[in-house]
Amino acid sequence: MTASLLIRNVRPNAGAALDILVEDGRIARMAKDIAAPAGVPVEDGRGEIVIPGLVEAHTHLDKSLWGLPWYVNEVGPKLLDKIDNERESKKRLDIDPARQSARQSVQSSLMGTTHIRSHVDVDTEHGLWGVEGVMATRDGYRDIVDIELVAFPQSGLLRRPGTLELMDQAMKAGCEIVGGLDPCGIDRDPKGHLDAVFGLCQKYGKPLDIHLHEPGEMGAFSTELIIERTRALGMHGKVTISHAFCLGSPDMALVDPLIGELAALDIAIMTTAPSRSAAPPVRKLVDAGVRVCSGSDGIRDTWGPYGNADMIERAMFVGLRNNFRRDDELKIALDVCTQGGAQVMEIADYGLAEGKAADLVIMPGETLAELIVTRSPKRRVVKRGRIVARDGVSVRAAP
Ligand SMILES: [Zn+2]
Repeated sequence: MTASLLIRNVRPNAGAALDILVEDGRIARMAKDIAAPAGVPVEDGRGEIVIPGLVEAHTHLDKSLWGLPWYVNEVGPKLLDKIDNERESKKRLDIDPARQSARQSVQSSLMGTTHIRSHVDVDTEHGLWGVEGVMATRDGYRDIVDIELVAFPQSGLLRRPGTLELMDQAMKAGCEIVGGLDPCGIDRDPKGHLDAVFGLCQKYGKPLDIHLHEPGEMGAFSTELIIERTRALGMHGKVTISHAFCLGSPDMALVDPLIGELAALDIAIMTTAPSRSAAPPVRKLVDAGVRVCSGSDGIRDTWGPYGNADMIERAMFVGLRNNFRRDDELKIALDVCTQGGAQVMEIADYGLAEGKAADLVIMPGETLAELIVTRSPKRRVVKRGRIVARDGVSVRAAP
């Protein structure tokens, strides 16, 4: 699955032009005028920008409606309306997790994503259907994208007895991350919920990535409980809080101490840069030393109609939501969608440097800020040294 390739005349992170020699899927040399080794294909970079592969650090591959007939959304306003509606609709709408995750993965790859963290529903109605389907895609599409799975109790953990046992089975089956969801708002038992998910982390030696939509004081309370457990269990650097809307509260007396604790315990934050909810302040978190990543969340699902799996567009949303205007600020937005995601997912061989995996995106543009603003569809995507997508066409067909 690895390949060798000589990419001529590209500009790493919009810097000076040079050549990149890839050997067996890894960046072997970055220099000017590298002689082409015999038999190695040569790609003309045309002076375009090359960045490391985009990182989709939070999505739900198992339940996208991509490629299915248009879903007319008439769902109710509450979080539980969306959760119940989705669970009850899955079989009726034929949302087969294997097929749908493959479709979204191909779409992600052709937009430039090389790594995906997917939360995958585990519930008493569908058991491990989602996990098995996404695992089939992970194994079957490894040549274009690396996928890791979060076992995710979307319908609640304790409010639906039997879910915890299924979560245990999902971890046993090979999910890489334990998921969780609104300990107060959904399960109404914060201690019970958090003890259960942290217990699974301890049992399997795996990290936690918990959805936390709870706003204001309630979200801050849950965050404090997560902080307490992270410290007590020595899980520094192994916990991600996804959404963390409470960090967008205007009450600095509430937010600032939390950010200090997150930085001290190396707890990461995922934000989609939502258009409506309060959102974590990206600049402030990055300045405090907190790892920040981003993701599309659900793409074209029963929750909402939007999404195209483009993490360059997501960087624009991060910029818009955080009022980023300066070029150095837009670079932070792009970092969140590349390096930040790689740090959260602990991708060891990630980056634009010799010895790292040759997972790259080549795009036209003068500066990194311009990349985000123009979001050119002319993208060449390299996975382990092989060009896997060119101008919106993947080497893999979606089912
Ligand atoms: Zn999510």
